[in-house]
Amino acid sequence: MSERTTPEPLPAELRALAAEAEALATRTAEVATRLRAAPDGTLQRLARPIAKATHDLSDYTDEVVRTAEDLARVRVARDPSLCDVPWGVCPAHGVTLRASGDRAFCTAPGCVGEWDYDRLHTPCAEPATAVVTDEDGVTARMCGAHLRDVTERMAGCTVAGLDHRSSKG
Ligand SMILES: [Zn+2]
Ligand SMILES: [Zn+2]
Repeated sequence: MSERTTPEPLPAELRALAAEAEALATRTAEVATRLRAAPDGTLQRLARPIAKATHDLSDYTDEVVRTAEDLARVRVARDPSLCDVPWGVCPAHGVTLRASGDRAFCTAPGCVGEWDYDRLHTPCAEPATAVVTDEDGVTARMCGAHLRDVTERMAGCTVAGLDHRSSKG
């Protein structure tokens, strides 16, 4: 790659944008309050679009904050000691997640697993317990839940356990 790459945005940049929007929304809301308090009916009516703008800003803030959280999760998932699989699992039950809007939950009976983000479509960040090599020689680090799934579905892959325990007892 000789081409210069655009620097990747950081979660902190997004959080700073959200904070600016929040400050802006506060000022906009204050303007709406003053318009509503005006003795002139025409001015009072103008409070409405400003209130809408305030609302839009708060939607914007929510969206940007959520994206900052997702970005932070993606960055955490790059940690080489974590599972490489680009989608999430229930740590207890494996590939049983279902996403619903910005949330995800485990469909295993009796499981209370529920996440306030779309865990299903977020890279897995569970600790890796083994390195799996498929028939084509492609290797991936996997958590226990993903390992169970892949060994059930795929024949011919090789599993090498990662020993997390220290050798000096
Ligand atoms: Zn579960
Ligand atoms: Zn995993």
